[in-house]
Amino acid sequence: MLSVYDVHKRFDRLEVLRGVSLDVKKGEVVVVIGPSGSGKSTLLRCINCLEKIDAGEVRFEEEIVGMLPGKHGLKEDSRKNIARLRSSMGMVFQQFNLFPHMTVLENVIEGPVTVKRMNRSEAVAIADRLLDKVGLQDKRDVYPNQLSGGQKQRVAIARALAMEPRMMLFDEPTSALDPELVGGVLAVMKELAEEGMTMIVVTHEMGFAREVGDRVIFMDEGKIVESGSPEEIFSRPCEERTRCFLNSIL
Ligand code: ADP
Ligand code: MG
Repeated sequence: MLSVYDVHKRFDRLEVLRGVSLDVKKGEVVVVIGPSGSGKSTLLRCINCLEKIDAGEVRFEEEIVGMLPGKHGLKEDSRKNIARLRSSMGMVFQQFNLFPHMTVLENVIEGPVTVKRMNRSEAVAIADRLLDKVGLQDKRDVYPNQLSGGQKQRVAIARALAMEPRMMLFDEPTSALDPELVGGVLAVMKELAEEGMTMIVVTHEMGFAREVGDRVIFMDEGKIVESGSPEEIFSRPCEERTRCFLNSIL
């Protein structure tokens, strides 16, 4: 479904991604771990075109996206194509990024109404179903500042799902949460995975990675150092760097 091939990305002189290749199959849940600064967020941002790549290729459902091969290296895809791609990939960030001046319901229908030009009543019906799914039907008319971090993040997930994405990207969705709020968010993500959603999840929640992940990828210094089943990576990592990292976080 997604194929990332030899992607390079630099910010000025800092090479943040140094040849990353990754394939994700439909329905697969890929968990990405690695030290701070290793390029995990940048990788997700390159996948959904929030960043331009300098070399390599990203394909989503067979189509090259974001940066296309041109006569003189890569050239940027049309804004229309990028917008279309973004709406088929939902992204959830560590910092919820809800619109503070909109109610929960308005947050969830915003994308469908403004981007997909869905009529309001249809969008509301979808939003109500999704808020029910994330356990927040009773909060539909409150503002984000009246929610806990965990509730905000569940709204953010509902908002992403309202665009009917074919793939979801999660960037440390529980890292900003108080410990007691983490479980509710992970439960929603687990349910999504069980329904067959294709997902890339940057997280250090090892329980989630083991239980829900089909594959775990360890990144360090802009490269994928090691990739394998959760069992392989957590119980018998091949690389010393993976072992060191796991020891440091467990
Ligand atoms: P991770 O998510 O694994 O912690 P990031 O992808 O956020 O890592 O960052 C990788 C490196 O790229 C870091 O050194 C970070 O400071 C740098 N970086 C990320 N975004 C930018 C940016 N927009 N401009 C300059 N440097 C950046
Ligand atoms: Mg990050």
